[in-house]
Amino acid sequence: MIVRLLFFILVFAIVWVIYRQFAKAIVAKSKSVKKADKANHEESMVKCATCGTFVPLSHAVYDHNQVAFCSMEHKIEHSDQQK
Ligand SMILES: [Zn+2]
Repeated sequence: MIVRLLFFILVFAIVWVIYRQFAKAIVAKSKSVKKADKANHEESMVKCATCGTFVPLSHAVYDHNQVAFCSMEHKIEHSDQQK
């Protein structure tokens, strides 16, 4: 009977250790996600040549002259205006 009790305590201890490791991993993961979020917010902005809206560098659309636009529609609009 005492062997069974010790076995249960051992199993509980192992589960507890695994749970702690998991909790640590999850916390570390959410921290790194927060860090990535912060990096995105610090991304430099470019001004749309058509409407003047500032858009993040990665969301901007560029034409052959490397002019930045907020959307494909504004890129087309701008090239139409130049004709
Ligand atoms: Zn625009």
